[in-house]
Amino acid sequence: MTNRDLARRLRETASLIELTGGNAFRARAFERAAGVIADLEEPAPQRLVDDTLTDLDGIGDGMAGHVGEMLAGPGDSFPQRDELLGEVPTGLLEVLRVQGLGTKKARRLWQELGVTSLDELEAAATAGRIQELSGFGEKTQANLLSGARRLKTYRTRRRLSDALAQAVPMLEALRTAEGIERAEAAGALRRHCETATRVALIATGAPRAAEDALAPWLSSEAGFEGPARGDQLAFEGTFADGFPFAVRLVPPERFGTDWWLMTGSEAHCAAFQEEHGVAEPHASETALYEAAGLPFIPPELREGRGELEAASEGALPALVEAGDLRGVLHNHSTYSDGSHTLREMAEAARARGLSYFGICDHSQSLRVAGGLSPKAVREQQREIEALNEDFSENGEAPFRVFSGIESDILKDGALDYEEDMLASFDFVVGSVHQGLSMTEAEATERIVRAIEHPHLRILGHATGRQLLSREGYPLRIERVIEACARHDVAIEFNANPRRLDLDWRHLRAATEAGVLVSINPDAHATDELDYMTRFGVPVARKGGLTAPQCLNAKSLDAFTAWIEQGEENGE
Ligand SMILES: [Zn+2]
Ligand SMILES: [Zn+2]
Repeated sequence: MTNRDLARRLRETASLIELTGGNAFRARAFERAAGVIADLEEPAPQRLVDDTLTDLDGIGDGMAGHVGEMLAGPGDSFPQRDELLGEVPTGLLEVLRVQGLGTKKARRLWQELGVTSLDELEAAATAGRIQELSGFGEKTQANLLSGARRLKTYRTRRRLSDALAQAVPMLEALRTAEGIERAEAAGALRRHCETATRVALIATGAPRAAEDALAPWLSSEAGFEGPARGDQLAFEGTFADGFPFAVRLVPPERFGTDWWLMTGSEAHCAAFQEEHGVAEPHASETALYEAAGLPFIPPELREGRGELEAASEGALPALVEAGDLRGVLHNHSTYSDGSHTLREMAEAARARGLSYFGICDHSQSLRVAGGLSPKAVREQQREIEALNEDFSENGEAPFRVFSGIESDILKDGALDYEEDMLASFDFVVGSVHQGLSMTEAEATERIVRAIEHPHLRILGHATGRQLLSREGYPLRIERVIEACARHDVAIEFNANPRRLDLDWRHLRAATEAGVLVSINPDAHATDELDYMTRFGVPVARKGGLTAPQCLNAKSLDAFTAWIEQGEENGE
């Protein structure tokens, strides 16, 4: 850990004390120590080793002890901070970073309005609830709103796909280095979170080998940190674009425990340790869980969302795997805004071992994306018939192309095209592309109306969000899910790494309501078909999705039956 990291943790602890209504003098002591360490010329860990840290004004034995704890544990934390963190909703720390919002005001917003995240701060400000508090006023409210929005825009995150693109070459360099026995991804990447705040890797092997392998990423002053602690080396730095990375080198006999801690989430590890005590050193994660009498918990599920209870009851879901998928629905071609022809797309799907392919080009209203006129639809459907004849004649395994459409959900919730045209498709995906600024009530009503349409079979990218660039329109998801369940409409899990929409956190509610989830790549080119397995499956697993709950894990026959069932309902 750098001095800056240490200072940040101490400063954050001061805020945590104030947020939880703790002793103001104690908070100030942390604040002061943070300032001293931030201003220090030499590395604080060195001073700790030399036993000269307490020579500094403002660093007593207690504070030096916390620094020592941060350096000794793999979690970069210390018990007092962990305890405070447990009392404060994690999102509140982000709220605290909004300009003009001190801990006192943040605490009041939390206690009096239940604000625990930037989203909730934004919602409370939008609803005018902040200005009603004494001492806040309209102007403060407006400032907090713009501050929250700005922060959300600028926050230092990367989408999973972008973070992976940075992590993979580094991981490869470690794995191919002589003297490195093992290297693995940890943190949010390993948990398949849709965005990450850093690349975290863990390895075991010779320090010199790791340093050499990481040399291209380690600038002289930013990089090599060790030996930070007795048995661990840490390499920290940033990629060229400022995105941080951390690589830990740990001994094999405690690889499992350190990997587990570095993978997190904090919520999962904290809940585990609360129940089973501090994790002992183990060589594997399996051994760590086994020592607690639990089965291995897949990293995707480690979010502190009931997975420990499920594990102890033997009720962990058998998560969907890439190999479970049989078909790929919702794809585009040169008929609308895709880069490859219908045949090229279908053949690429077949080459991936799938047994069906659904084409869902844009509908006529979406002119910017070359939406299909009724004439173009009929032309495409004739081509599909010809393709299917081809495939049935010279295919070793059965393969079929289905005629679908991504029909715009119009402003009033109606679907694009006349009834008879809609009825001519094998299945209809409905998506909102235009008129995105809606209130929650408007958006919910619009989408529920579309779901009620007898020809709609799949709700496409339900909230319209674009990760790290555009929030989705507000939606009462539970009403949408309930409508899908009532009308036998599947919900898409859009696997485009910019979308990953519906948010995985809502997938469980959908599947519990009996709604099928379709993992769709929304591919606009042949290589984008792989979004389905590269991002769709990994992130959908976070939502606990199993193969029987997944529409495109159905066999060709079962999927055909699902389509026919829809036709009966639509009559
Ligand atoms: Zn779309
Ligand atoms: Zn699409």
